[in-house]
Amino acid sequence: MHRPVFSGNEKQYLIDCIDSNFVSSVGARVTEFEQQIAAFTGAKYAIATVNGTAALHAALQLAGVLPGDEVISQALTFIATCNALSYTGAHAVFVDVDRDTMGMSADALRRFLTDKVERRDGEAFNKATGRRIAACAPMHTFGLPCRIEEIVALCDEYGIPVIEDAAESLGSYVGGRHTGTFGKLATLSFNGNKVITTGGGGMIITDDEELAIKAKHLTTTAKIPHPYEFVHDMTGYNYRMPNLNAALGCAQMEELPKFLAIKADVARRYEEFCAAQGIALAQAREGTVANYWLNAIVLDSLEQRDAFLEYTNSRGVMTRPVWRLMTRLEMYKDCQHDGLENSRWLEDRVVNLPSSVPDGAMAGDQGAG
Ligand SMILES: *Cc1c(COP(=O)(O)O)cnc(C)c1O
Repeated sequence: MHRPVFSGNEKQYLIDCIDSNFVSSVGARVTEFEQQIAAFTGAKYAIATVNGTAALHAALQLAGVLPGDEVISQALTFIATCNALSYTGAHAVFVDVDRDTMGMSADALRRFLTDKVERRDGEAFNKATGRRIAACAPMHTFGLPCRIEEIVALCDEYGIPVIEDAAESLGSYVGGRHTGTFGKLATLSFNGNKVITTGGGGMIITDDEELAIKAKHLTTTAKIPHPYEFVHDMTGYNYRMPNLNAALGCAQMEELPKFLAIKADVARRYEEFCAAQGIALAQAREGTVANYWLNAIVLDSLEQRDAFLEYTNSRGVMTRPVWRLMTRLEMYKDCQHDGLENSRWLEDRVVNLPSSVPDGAMAGDQGAG
């Protein structure tokens, strides 16, 4: 759906890494990559991690999510969102998405908070289960910005921290502000299929200095700095991004503006085609800019979707349905939800189209793959 392109300094930076002997958890590239991500997103701090799921797990813990708490999320998402919240020992609660953004619906969230949640001592509790609602984790689906500004405003009223799963939305903006800079914390992914890749990797971004310091500590085994002693003051994680991966990330960051411009052009061509064919193509809502990570069409019915998937895949064109709803998976089938009307509607109709940077689009592209 989105293959990586290495037509810049990737090879050189990897060779430099190997030549310097700094390939692992220590090295200048990690800090450099963090600074590049902070500068690009406008977040004050960025903390690199081994992958996006680890970033999300750490971010939820940093936001104060404890075992037995609840986290509000969306059922239409990639499994990583829910895996991360399960690692903290929290329970998932699902609210519906909007049909246009395919991300968490602010209206659905408002209804849920109004009807099902009570406030006590500055915290929010689920009336049905009595559990504390410790966080809200919306996701910017396929790089289409969700109504994050409304979601954050609602959660603020209830004292619920927002952790944005911005894994798919590097290069997506709401009113000129980068996605992932609205919540208390946000996470990115640099898996091989994302807009830029470090092979595997993730990032926590935040404007909160104290949280940023804690994030670094928690994700690097919680070691107290000391010239030779090994003292750790809590159960930390080895969620570090190796220097090799960060070197790849530094080179990919140099290419990111080009990738985004080319992907926008690919999307524009889909838009023209779909308009001519009368097919609904997902578009960024007004006032927002998508990174066009994956283009998505919304077909008329499950039957039409299946016919389209069969037709394209049998002819060597890779197309994929949207993820199965989390509530249809064994682990999350008993989770509380609000009916998920739009999520179900989209589950039956959405298909992703090939959205890679085309061969030859980059200067010096070898067209590998
Ligand atoms: C890619 C992705 C992640 C993180 O995935 P990793 O492979 O662990 O980097 C998290 N959430 C969503 C929605 C994703 O698409």
